[in-house]
Amino acid sequence: MITASVHPRHLEPRTWQQELAEAITRPEELAAALGLSPTALAGAEEAGRHFRLQVPRSFVSRMRPGDPRDPLLLQVLPDAAELADEAGYGADPVGESGALRAPGLLQKYRGRALLITTPACAVHCRYCFRREFPYAQRNGEVPRWGEALAEIAADSSLEEILLSGGDPLSLSNARLESLTRALAAIPHVRRIRVHTRQPVVLPSRVDEGLSRWLRGSALPIVFVLHINHPHELDAELAAACARLKATGVTLLNQSVLLAGVNDETEVLSQLSLRLFEAGVLPYYLHALDPVKGAAHFRVPDERARTIAGELAARLPGYLVPRLVREVAGAPAKVALGALF
Ligand SMILES: *Cc1c(COP(=O)(O)O)cnc(C)c1O
Ligand code: SF4
Repeated sequence: MITASVHPRHLEPRTWQQELAEAITRPEELAAALGLSPTALAGAEEAGRHFRLQVPRSFVSRMRPGDPRDPLLLQVLPDAAELADEAGYGADPVGESGALRAPGLLQKYRGRALLITTPACAVHCRYCFRREFPYAQRNGEVPRWGEALAEIAADSSLEEILLSGGDPLSLSNARLESLTRALAAIPHVRRIRVHTRQPVVLPSRVDEGLSRWLRGSALPIVFVLHINHPHELDAELAAACARLKATGVTLLNQSVLLAGVNDETEVLSQLSLRLFEAGVLPYYLHALDPVKGAAHFRVPDERARTIAGELAARLPGYLVPRLVREVAGAPAKVALGALF
C-alpha cells in the first residue's frame, strides 16, 4: 500500500527549482558525495565564508569520484589559496563600475549593453569575475529594470541587449518572458543575448516553459553558454542543448582559461569537438580576469598563446575559440593572438 510518506516522488521528473534547492553548499557534503577525505578539502570552510560553495548535484555527478584534482571540482571548491592577497587582483577587475549607465545596465561597447538581471547563480564558480560585484538587490528581492529599460529606449544606438547577472536563467520563465517582451517593444533593439551557465550545471533548467519563451520571442536570441571542460558536456547537457537548438536560438560557448582545469590543448580541442556535436560553436576563450581570490587559476599569456596556436593548427577555424582578454576602457575584447 502506498502511504503519503512513501509517495513515489522519485517517479516524477525533478523540477530545476527542486534540484537547485538540493544543491550542495557544505564542503563535507561534497567530500562525501565524491568519496574524498575531508583533508582534501582543507581550507574550503574558511575560503567559502565570503563566497560560499554552491554546486547542483547534476554537475557533481560529472566529477570523477576520489579525485581531488578533478577539473570540474576545482572550478567550484573553495580553496585556501583564495585568501591570499595578490597584487593586481581586485574587486572590479574589468572596470565595470565606470561603465554603469543606469542601475544594472552596463555599456562598454558600441551598440551593445548588458543588463545585470539578478545576483543569483545556480553554481558559484571560484574564478568568477563578478564574485565581488556590488549587486544592488539581494535576498531574492524582485529586480526592477524600469530605469534600465528607459535608458535603452532613449538610446537608438543600442541594438543588442545582453542578459547577464548572476545568471539570467535564475529568473522564472515568466520574468524572462516579460523582460524580453519589454525589450522587443523598443524599436531599435534587434537582438537579445543570454549569457548563462545554468543549463550546464542544471540541464533540467531547459524545461518546456523555457522553450516556449524562446519560441515565442519576437527577436532573435543568441545563447552564450559557459562550458570550460569536455567532461561538463555529458549526454544530459547535450540533450538540453538540443532542446535549446530546437527553439531556433543561436548557440555559442565561452570558456575561461583556468590553470589546472583546461590549460591543455588536448582538453580544449576535445571541448570544441564535443560542442560541435551538441550544436554549439566556440566563441571566446577568456584569459582570467584578475579578480581577488582567483590568482591561483592564472595561466601565463605566453602559455595561453601557445595553446591558441596549437588549437588553430589542429581544428577547423570555426571550432577555434578566440583568445581574448577584457581590458577596462578598450572598445572591444582584446585579442591575445596565437603563437605558432
Ligand atoms: C563582454 C561584454 C559584451 C559583449 O561583447 P562581445 O564581444 O559582443 O561578445 C558586451 N557588454 C559588456 C559590458 C561586456 O562585458
Ligand atoms: S555562473 Fe557565471 S556569473 Fe555565476 S558564478 Fe559562475 S561565472 Fe560567475
